[in-house]
Amino acid sequence: MDTFIPVTQPHLPPLDEFLPYLEKIWESKLVTNGGPFHAQLEQSLCEYLGVEHISLFSNGTLALITALQAMKITGEVITTPFSFVATTHALHWNGIRPVFADIDPVSMNLDPEKIEAAITPQTTAILPVHVYGNPCEVEAIERIADTYGLRVLYDAAHAFGVRKNGRSVLEFGDMSVLSFHGTKIFNTFEGGAIICQDAKTKRRIDNLKNFGFVDEVTVIGPGINGKMNEVQAAFGLLQLKHMEHIAASRARIAERYRAALQNVRGLMLHDIPSHSTRNHSYFPVRITQEFPIPRDTLYDEFRAQNILARRYFYPLISEFPTYRGLQSAARSNLPVAVEISRQVLCLPIYPALDAQTQDRIIDIVLATAGLKQHAS
Ligand SMILES: *Cc1c(COP(=O)(O)O)cnc(C)c1O
Repeated sequence: MDTFIPVTQPHLPPLDEFLPYLEKIWESKLVTNGGPFHAQLEQSLCEYLGVEHISLFSNGTLALITALQAMKITGEVITTPFSFVATTHALHWNGIRPVFADIDPVSMNLDPEKIEAAITPQTTAILPVHVYGNPCEVEAIERIADTYGLRVLYDAAHAFGVRKNGRSVLEFGDMSVLSFHGTKIFNTFEGGAIICQDAKTKRRIDNLKNFGFVDEVTVIGPGINGKMNEVQAAFGLLQLKHMEHIAASRARIAERYRAALQNVRGLMLHDIPSHSTRNHSYFPVRITQEFPIPRDTLYDEFRAQNILARRYFYPLISEFPTYRGLQSAARSNLPVAVEISRQVLCLPIYPALDAQTQDRIIDIVLATAGLKQHAS
């Protein structure tokens, strides 16, 4: 049997590079509660990402939930069905009603016109996602938010390091949330962060992620435990040293896919506009009607060869039992998202993916497209 090829894999630096960090933790006995590695990682990430205020979390979902708490969002929030389910779950955990709006067929992000059409007197905020690291139409969303007095929280789980016109996409909106889960390009095993725009808001977020404690005896509100521990933070610092290698290998792999697959009939690649940088966190392709076989047949073909390409995002969030009863979840309200969700397939991409394995993946696509003899 061929070795298993996942859709992604964390970059794990040599273990002996991590041991000195662990020794420091063992010496200091500081394992969590905002230790030295936590402080260093916040500072290093601010510099790397080009932002001013960041709060680290134990995972991205708790960061999303806490961001909504920090902004005191209630009522209805307009969001995309084409995302990982945690985006909408974070609203649900805050007692907020999600309102799904359709996506743009090119960017696969929330369509600003559809956002505007979904606004009601109960709307308080917009929760867009920079899907696959492709920036949303942040200027148009800002205009809508200003016009209607809405807050904006970006789920930037895919957008680590992405810039638009030279500016970090994390600076747009009231807050942005990152995920450092093992499947993301920068990881701390599990982890996440909130990026906000001023020091006062950061303090509030920091209190909320620590049960609401301001000092030993003062609790400002119903906080949660969302703290990142020292092992996670230390690993993040080490991982940052390897980001150049991670980014370069991902770019090389994406370029090879692009060269091999760009002219295959019925296959649509995902174009990112030139005003923004790419982080190559995913390599999505759309298997359209002109392709000889359906998306799921290609997916099964990969599975049979022990390759796990992923149908991100299928099913749509709006199709899960918790949400499908919502009026905005009707398929007729989300025709573009429904179509793309049925077509999309993310091909494996991660630094350790070697050229030979990538060729096998490419050959499977070309063979099913009838453009190449089946490799054995
Ligand atoms: C990964 C991801 C999350 C959740 O992050 P965790 O760190 O796994 O909790 C949220 N939204 C999107 C779009 C994601 O891809």
